[in-house]
Formats: sequence, structure tokens, C-alpha cells
Amino acid sequence: MITYEEAIRIVDRHTREIGVWGKSVVGSTGLRLGEDLVALCDSPPFDNSAVDGYGRRESDLSATELPLAGEIRAGDDGSLEVPPGHTVRIFTGAPVPRDIAAVSMQEDCEESDGVVRFAEQSESGSHIRCAGSDFATGDVLARKGTVMNPPLVGLALSAGLHQIKHLARPRVAIVTTGDELESPMTPLGPGKIYNSNEGALTDAVRSMSERARTWQSPDDPERLRMTLGVFLNEDDVVITCGGVSVGAYDYLKDAFSALGVEQHFWSVAIKPGKPIYFGTKGKTLVFGLPGNPVSAMVTFYLFVRPALLKMAGHPDPWPKPIRARFEGEARKNPGRMEFLRGSLSQDGSIAVATGGQGSHVISALADADCLIHFPLESAELRSGDEVDITPLVWD
Ligand code: AMP
Ligand code: MG
Repeated sequence: MITYEEAIRIVDRHTREIGVWGKSVVGSTGLRLGEDLVALCDSPPFDNSAVDGYGRRESDLSATELPLAGEIRAGDDGSLEVPPGHTVRIFTGAPVPRDIAAVSMQEDCEESDGVVRFAEQSESGSHIRCAGSDFATGDVLARKGTVMNPPLVGLALSAGLHQIKHLARPRVAIVTTGDELESPMTPLGPGKIYNSNEGALTDAVRSMSERARTWQSPDDPERLRMTLGVFLNEDDVVITCGGVSVGAYDYLKDAFSALGVEQHFWSVAIKPGKPIYFGTKGKTLVFGLPGNPVSAMVTFYLFVRPALLKMAGHPDPWPKPIRARFEGEARKNPGRMEFLRGSLSQDGSIAVATGGQGSHVISALADADCLIHFPLESAELRSGDEVDITPLVWD
């Protein structure tokens, strides 16, 4: 049996970024840029008016009255010539002709019978948004690794980009095993339980995978081998659940070995989740999670989730424990590190356990927002003890 710390080092060592894929800018929110985002055009692309108003030439900026020479609307090409001693009606977003030095807001002007009266003189450049004043062609708008969000989508589109390169997220297969599993859509027969892990794991990988497919298998070594063989060829990560312990019908380890998966560890000195298996076949990572719902979710969180994030280019995916004070009482035998399901006080300073700590007690995990580290060699935790905490963030 290896320690938790050794186990995460081994997973980290075998986990690589998948690479860079192309995608349309629209729909890229949440993806990490695979290269710098570089502007293909200036923004604004041309000098344009920031207001609805009237434009004047440099020599007419202090004139109090000028005849109108015409009108420029948003979308016009800006070629209108405004003779000296004239003004031009101009609207927000319309191109400002080269000869126009400033625009006055229409609220500060009065127009009647083709003549505009100006209440104030203008400063050169006022109410004109200059070409390239937001960004210029060739500017780096966002660096490789930045996570796309809706404003960045808008920025990329305004810079003339409609495709981006992003760091690919892994394709994931989730295989749940057990003759006792029933689909949550059917009434429970005698001796059956709902397959809750399939859906919980599917949701857990949703935001960090390119796609996730699922398969529920009976405890049947032949069928397990057949389907796992396909997934090992086509997916970047294969997550199995159940059947990886020491029971007579726990076939996963044999199936992995028959399919040429190289085992890197089986059994970690932790609770819950001791029988977790980790192996690789080529570039595909294989995680055999135990079937108990709490064990499955906690081992997913501690080992699989960081690996998925790293594959998708996350620079620092491993959970960073924080320090807090434990409140309550807990006992165990030394030799295994325990991750108690816990709840942190609002200021993050105090952690308490959330209910039953059995590996099947999913309600205590659902209530938890952190895992309280009960160290390998400790036998007791008491109120006031300083502990490491791993916050649980599922999105
Ligand atoms: P196993 O790891 O296969 O020995 O399963 C351990 C416990 O977890 C057993 O009580 C199983 O019935 C339960 N279990 C296994 N797979 C699932 C699943 N997909 N959803 C809910 N419970 C499960
Ligand atoms: Mg089983």
C-alpha cells in the first residue's frame, strides 16, 4: 500500500496535456486558450462618433452657428466631404470624416432651418473614438492558458477572429459495474440498488471533458473485457467504478491486465477509497474507483479530477490543503489517512464532520464542503487540533 502523497505523485507523473484543438469562438466559454489571442484588425476599425451630435472642422470649433452640409449614419463609408464653415449631422458609431476635428453632443446644440447653433466650443478630438484606441492589429488580447468567457468571446469576435485554438479536454468513458445495479428509471427489484455513481460521475466530469460516455456492466469478465477494450482505444481517460476490491466477483484488475493496461498502483493507505487502482495504456489513463458512492466520489475528487484538469492544460490542478481547527471528536487506527467529510465555518477557520462517515453515507458527502485530513499515523482528533482541509469544489 502506498500513501496518498505517493499516489498523487504517480498520477501526476503519467498525466500529460492532450494538445490543441480548433473551435469556433462562439461556444468557447470555459475552454483554455491553446495559443495567444492576436487581433486581426484595429478596434475601433475607424474613427467614429461616440455620441449623436454635430461634427465641426478644426477651424470651426469655436463657431456658434454653422449651416448643415449633410448627415452621416452608422454604416456609412465616411467619404462625405464637409466644406469649411459647415457642420455635419453625425450619429453614434458613424465614421468621422478626416476633416472633422470634434463632435458636439446634440443635447448642446440646436438645429433649425438647416442651421445648427452651438452652445459651447469644442476641444479637438472630443466625442471621437479613435481607430485602434481599444486595441490594434497584432496586439495580444489574451495569453495562452486564459480561460475563455463571454466578454473574451466578444473581444475575439471584434478582433476579426471566428476560430480559436484551445487546449483539448479529455474524452472520458465511465464504466459502472455490478449485478446489483438498476437504472434510476426503473422500480427497484429485490437486492438491487440504483446506479447512482454513473450519473454523479457524469456530472462531475461534465465541465472538464470533451465528452463523457457511460456503460453499465454486470459482473461479467467477458463483457467487461470487450467493452473496456473499445474504450481504452478511443478514450483519453477510462474511469471504472466498483469491482476493484478483493471480492470473488471483482473482475476489473484482471480485465485491465488482460487488456495490456500497465498497473501503477492498486491500494492506497486512505479511507475512503483504499482499493483505488491506477494504470495506463499508451496515453490513456485508467482509474478503477471503488463502488461505494462516497469512496467513488472522494477518490474521483482526489485523483481523477486533478488529472482531467491537468490534461486540459490547468497549470496547478492538485488540491492545495488549507489549515483549520477541528471541532468534535474522531478516532481511528493508525496506518491509513482518513478524509472525513466536513463542513467549514464561514470564515474558513473551523471544520466539523458532517454526519455518518461510512463509505455508503452519501448524505454526509452531499452536506460537505471539504475533506478533513485525519493523518496517517494519528489515532485521535480532538476539538482545537489543527488539521489540513481540502475544500470541495465540484464545478
Ligand atoms: P464494489 O466496489 O463493487 O465492491 O461495490 C461496493 C459497494 O458499492 C457495494 O455496496 C455496491 O453495491 C455499491 N456500488 C457499486 N457500484 C455502485 C454504483 N454504480 N452506484 C451505487 N452504488 C454502487
Ligand atoms: Mg461490485
